[in-house]
Amino acid sequence: MTRDLFPPDTIQFASTRSDALQQLQEFVPFAGRYSRHRNHVLPGHKNVSRLSPAIRHRLITEEECSTAPLERYAPSTIEKFTQEVYWRRYWKAWLSLRPQVWSNYLDDLQLINDSPRYETARERASLCQSAKGPVALMNHFAKELQTTGYLHNHARMWFAGWWIHVERLPWQLGAHFFFKNLLDADPASNTLSWRWVAGLQTPGKTYLPRRSNIEKYMSPDLLDTLQEGLEILETPTAAHPGAQERDRITHPSPDPETLPDNRNAGIWVHEEDLLPEASPLSTLKPKAVLVSGNFEAWEKFEFCEPKRKWLMAALEDACFRTENHFRVSPEIVTQTHQLQSITKWARREKLSQVVALRPQVGPLADLIPSIRQDLASHDVELLLLDRATDRAARSLATGSFFSFWKKCQKEFPELSA
Ligand SMILES: Cc1cc2nc3c(=O)[nH]c(=O)nc-3n(C[C@H](O)[C@H](O)[C@H](O)COP(=O)(O)OP(=O)(O)OC[C@H]3O[C@@H](n4cnc5c(N)ncnc54)[C@H](O)[C@@H]3O)c2cc1C
Repeated sequence: MTRDLFPPDTIQFASTRSDALQQLQEFVPFAGRYSRHRNHVLPGHKNVSRLSPAIRHRLITEEECSTAPLERYAPSTIEKFTQEVYWRRYWKAWLSLRPQVWSNYLDDLQLINDSPRYETARERASLCQSAKGPVALMNHFAKELQTTGYLHNHARMWFAGWWIHVERLPWQLGAHFFFKNLLDADPASNTLSWRWVAGLQTPGKTYLPRRSNIEKYMSPDLLDTLQEGLEILETPTAAHPGAQERDRITHPSPDPETLPDNRNAGIWVHEEDLLPEASPLSTLKPKAVLVSGNFEAWEKFEFCEPKRKWLMAALEDACFRTENHFRVSPEIVTQTHQLQSITKWARREKLSQVVALRPQVGPLADLIPSIRQDLASHDVELLLLDRATDRAARSLATGSFFSFWKKCQKEFPELSA
């Protein structure tokens, strides 16, 4: 019998803005010890912030996360935490400049799922996902992921490394397993982290899960009960030795679209960014507001039940805040076809313009051309606005993370506070 790392009844991931802000405040006293303790995988995961679902869907912003600890600590003391928040920014910006990496992943995934050539890999992957693999610790992580919607970063690295380099399974199947179960599942952080572990993201870097590293960082109490199969991780070797792929920038940062001055404009709030009241949309006086989830993606990517529940709660919270801010009672779309619901709403409200925050690369961004076209066929214009910080980050993510980080230290005021 293994003890749960994070029994579902003892872990909550803030699904409202006010809970996320409170969770951030509660984390601040720990931020000073973050760099020393963050790599340990401990019951309760109190050594890390656990804010990723809220940051992913922008219930809180990256700036809020990196400035809050400055109330108590010098920037140098909390640099590691800030850097992690900026890893997220880097991955998002990096993928925005190279969206073909996302579409190649989707194509590969489709091929692996459809082709008879991958039948054995699919069967093996299914066993590993059902926690019936040969390494008890990895079975434990598979269960934890599906029960709680979360895994510690180090557990994600060990699991992905074992999947790719030991089980020799396609990384795309593992990335999909994470994407459908993680509450914080993000097209950029997830896809690019899996590629990084595989050795495809950063030339010369492959992540191998080693028993010695697991014994150093995994809670000893838990590891004692999870010894079976650990010997398999004594000397793993890279599945793709020397793999190097340099992905070219194929999609320069889009030109900023300008704020409309239009009394027939409606605001569309979507799950990629649930903070319209603190965004370029905040000064608009919309005629109507729509809050919608990307339900097509929930189906297509087989989102698990806890993830759907978390997203519903976050959408409802956005509805509530949106109404307070814009003084317009929003319509919330529950289960329906994304394209039709936006167009129907725009027509019903007699809008000539729909304004939204630009979704970055991922399932919603993939739908934008057809949503735009469908609206245009009814004479409604779709206008997508960027947060200035997203735009700035995109212009800086042309090289490695550390060159990005150096440039960000000049660009972002919170880093030189
Ligand atoms: C294989 C793999 C898949 C991953 N998939 C995702 C994903 O889908 N979504 C996601 O948000 N993160 C992903 N990560 C990154 C990281 O594991 C999580 O962001 C982190 O574990 C979230 O926990 P936390 O909020 O307690 O993080 P903290 O340690 O408290 O860090 C604070 C914030 O910084 C950001 N962050 C921290 N570490 C990283 C990192 N390595 N890369 C990018 N951002 C980071 C997150 O927004 C996080 O909330 C993945 C990592 C790996 C190795």
